[in-house]
Amino acid sequence: MENKERLNVACFSTQDYDKAVFEKAINSAEPPYADSVAITYLSHRLTASTARLCEGYNVVIAFVNDDISAATVKALAHCNVKHIALRCAGFNNVDINAAHEHGIQVSRVPAYSPETVAEHTIALILTLNRQTHKAYNRVREGNFALSGLMGFTLHNKTVGVVGTGKIGCSVIRILSGFGCRILCYDPNKNHDAMDLGAQYVDLETLFAESIIVSLHCPLNESSHHMINSESLHKMQDGVMLINTSRGGLVDDKAIIDGLKSKKIGYLGLDVYERESELFFTDHSQDIIQDDNFQRLTTFPNVLITGHQGFFTAEALSEIAQVTLANIVNKTNIVTL
Ligand code: NAD
Repeated sequence: MENKERLNVACFSTQDYDKAVFEKAINSAEPPYADSVAITYLSHRLTASTARLCEGYNVVIAFVNDDISAATVKALAHCNVKHIALRCAGFNNVDINAAHEHGIQVSRVPAYSPETVAEHTIALILTLNRQTHKAYNRVREGNFALSGLMGFTLHNKTVGVVGTGKIGCSVIRILSGFGCRILCYDPNKNHDAMDLGAQYVDLETLFAESIIVSLHCPLNESSHHMINSESLHKMQDGVMLINTSRGGLVDDKAIIDGLKSKKIGYLGLDVYERESELFFTDHSQDIIQDDNFQRLTTFPNVLITGHQGFFTAEALSEIAQVTLANIVNKTNIVTL
């Protein structure tokens, strides 16, 4: 390490908690990374214009809503950046081809505590079903009436899991503990899912038979807007739809129509297609311009969280450790 050049790293979209975990990870690594890595923390999102701030940096650390399109990559290459280290699993926000053309490596954190996101998925399911968010307010106001709070028993119900990778399997593991019948769909079958008792079916069968549909696949060309008016039509009336993966999996106009027609009985979202304009920032004093997002928040049976599925102390710590190791050792490089 001593003979190696110190890497100057610009970390974008930084919140206070990011800085705290990265600084802890730098100093607690064995050997510590402090001699080999120096991080400057920027609150800005990485975009084609903010990429110009990277003059003098060899590496950038980026997050889910940074816009790493071809124009951003070009600006980073102009600044001589050699490595984009994503502190997340998904890489749908990066033009990987452009990065490779400019000789920039892209790394990611492929697996950090999948249970963390799975547990948040279950939190959305249970909250929507048993309406604990409404019960909390009612009881604090001295209203002990139960009318309007009736849920359904999960035991023996059929749940459809779309995408049976690390997070999907973790969801299956928890739901099998509830005694649910689990149907799943994934172009690549996973023996872990089958060992947990889940049954692979085609997407049509999953939509037709599931009372809950939960999405756990990446956003790519084949999965973009996989939930649209056509797929909703194939689902049960009153279905519970959960998306903790990526907002672009869902056509928000179609789900608003689905909520209005009562095809969707419950909607739980941790992600939203245009979340980069909103999430991770306090907009409580702003007039939010995204009318579809605002419409979604008006339905009594919709629960939206601001991309917090990953947000536990354990997961953040693991993300920081793996991101730093990726930077120093050039591991977890994304290839196409
Ligand atoms: P993974 O790579 O382990 O699994 C993804 C699975 O999806 C794979 O088995 C793949 O074959 C499957 N798949 C790909 N295209 C599909 C399609 N069209 N239909 C059905 N299945 C398809 O990924 P993971 O770690 O389980 O993560 C899943 C997704 O969760 C990520 O892509 C990411 O978008 C999201 N995520 C969200 C958060 C959050 O905070 N909300 C955190 C981490 C990851």
